[in-house]
Amino acid sequence: MILIESVAEMQQFAREHRGEIALVPTMGYLHEGHASLMHEAKKRAPIVVVSIFVNPTQFGVNEDLESYPRDLERDTRVAQSEGVDVIFAPSARDMYPQGYQSYLDVEEITKELCGASRPGHFRGVTTVVAKLFNIVSPRLALFGKKDFQQLAVIRRMVQDFNMDLEIVGMPIVRESDGLALSSRNTKLDPAARQSALCLSRALCAARGAFESGERSANELRRAALVPIEGESLAVLDYLEFRDPDTLAPLQKIDGRTLLALAVRIGAVRLIDNCILGEG
Ligand code: AMP
Repeated sequence: MILIESVAEMQQFAREHRGEIALVPTMGYLHEGHASLMHEAKKRAPIVVVSIFVNPTQFGVNEDLESYPRDLERDTRVAQSEGVDVIFAPSARDMYPQGYQSYLDVEEITKELCGASRPGHFRGVTTVVAKLFNIVSPRLALFGKKDFQQLAVIRRMVQDFNMDLEIVGMPIVRESDGLALSSRNTKLDPAARQSALCLSRALCAARGAFESGERSANELRRAALVPIEGESLAVLDYLEFRDPDTLAPLQKIDGRTLLALAVRIGAVRLIDNCILGEG
């Protein structure tokens, strides 16, 4: 495995391996969720590049850019054990040099859900992902369904800008107690870690009600809110039922339905989701 820290060097490598690369974009502090993406990438392409870049343009002014966990040494061990070929870890200076002024904006699909509480977030995400696609020239890129809206936004961008690569969405990896893995989980103290279970419990409660035949959005919402309202540390940001492809609000919950939620546990904002009516 090699470590590439310069954009120019990464582009040179990409020119020599065009058509062979699967890209897994990450912000590092790698966990089993990231590892599942690398594992699948390895099956689908001869060369796997994992980018590790805590992208400043996707963090709002009061968000956790400075305190976001970072550990390149540990990440190197995780990537190595998954058979990754290249870690691409550029500096912010190299990605956004003096004079930088170009951004990519996907409009409607970024306005609600996480986009509503994190203005500018998806503009930063699409900009950095488009840059990574240009630098690495992958034939496919893998993303987790944990960031469901991010995946939908990237699919939209790839379609709208005729980007010539395949986007693969991968299932959410969870701890044995249900908590979706996230680099931000490391910021939870033991009490907050316990409270954080309310996200997956909310999904389970709604799924249980759905499977018992409940189809009223109000009733499903009521069921999902019980575990969240029972946690004093938890503050709901949003809980929404949406079309899984367009993210449009749904009048009726009958076919496949995305249930997405964001909850603040103290200072840590966590997201989770599931698809009702699937499988
Ligand atoms: P991040 O480093 O948080 O930006 O995540 C990098 C990629 O890993 C994104 O495509 C995420 O959706 C994906 N990812 C993060 N957590 C999980 C998880 N628990 N299960 C599956 N994929 C995940």
